[in-house]
Amino acid sequence: MKTEELKDLYEKFVMNTYKRFPLALSRGAGARVWDSDGREYLDMAAGIAVCSLGHAHPGVVAAIQRQAETLMHVSNLYYTEPQACFARLLVENSFADKVFFCNSGAEANEAAIKLARKYGHERLGGKYELITMKDSFHGRTLATITATGQEKFQVGFAPLPEGFKYAPFDDLPALEAAISEKTCGVLLEPIQGEGGVRIPDKHYLLGVREICDRYGILMILDEVQVGMGRTGTLFAYEDSGIQPDIMTLAKALGNGFPVGAMLTTDKTAAAFQPGNHASTFGGAPLAMAACIAVFEAIQAEGVLENCRRVGAYFLERMRRMQGHQPLIKDVRGKGLILGMELNIDGAEIVKKCMEKGLLIITSGAGNVLRFVPPLIISENDVDQAVNILEEVFKTS
Ligand SMILES: *Cc1c(COP(=O)(O)O)cnc(C)c1O
Repeated sequence: MKTEELKDLYEKFVMNTYKRFPLALSRGAGARVWDSDGREYLDMAAGIAVCSLGHAHPGVVAAIQRQAETLMHVSNLYYTEPQACFARLLVENSFADKVFFCNSGAEANEAAIKLARKYGHERLGGKYELITMKDSFHGRTLATITATGQEKFQVGFAPLPEGFKYAPFDDLPALEAAISEKTCGVLLEPIQGEGGVRIPDKHYLLGVREICDRYGILMILDEVQVGMGRTGTLFAYEDSGIQPDIMTLAKALGNGFPVGAMLTTDKTAAAFQPGNHASTFGGAPLAMAACIAVFEAIQAEGVLENCRRVGAYFLERMRRMQGHQPLIKDVRGKGLILGMELNIDGAEIVKKCMEKGLLIITSGAGNVLRFVPPLIISENDVDQAVNILEEVFKTS
């Protein structure tokens, strides 16, 4: 179908919750996608930091095909091998002792919020309040828009659930000042993705950990966007020298297969007993088979090493661009999550890049270009992206 035809069908039949680009994508391979006219694009949006191994990764495709022919879903009333094996992989490669599986980032954060409250009720004398960060993003359910420290996601949905309080990001004294006798935990992203690729001071997470320890409250990391390798380590917290009490994952876990996970320690996990939380689809064999294949590919194919090397090269090329491009206010990044803050709104730049065959997105107040490409891109791909950006800036 042609783009115009699809647009009409969407207008007629799909709820109007997204402002879409005038582009219909029909196929992908590696870091490239093709539109319905056969035009090729370098995909540095990657399904919003989802397709970290690129599109149509052969190992993931084969695992999904094999599992679909074997057993797709039986619910969590029964044991299945893929779920046990993937949980073991996550635990053996992280701080965690136990995993809960769900289907999205918002669901993973919902699970974390519920677990923190349950833990607070049982172990912290009834504490229930969570401190989250201004400019954060945690999802679109009622509790997660409330956790999200941005009013634009909350207007029109009052009354919001109680028990959330906001502190400025990357500000330890302000965080400590926000803690009350009701606080049971702190929920934050190691790098704020939607908030504009904001990277905190390198000792910030350590400081948050120390504060949480001092007050005996939970430190909850939302690694939905940066987890599974994007910052150059499997999990972003690894670089900070600390371990959280709870961590949530989703976007890159299944390389496009929808899946979310909440990881935690035995001590915290004990607050959940059968009946306290659940998900019909969570941890289903098909999703778990995809996740295992993704995990094995990340480890076997040098993905983290590539992410660090190409990420550093990308940041360096962006810095050089900033040197002669007055529209660029700041560039920042870690691994392959990079932001280019502009003195103008980014929407027009994104549109012009698309016309020249480069897919990127904005974040923050709309003035930050966000680059979250597949972690398998090469220096040549970066050169192509930078060349397109240079051309686009010339006409902006
Ligand atoms: C995308 C995102 C979410 C929400 O994930 P969904 O799968 O869209 O529900 C939560 N937290 C962070 C940090 C995210 O980037």
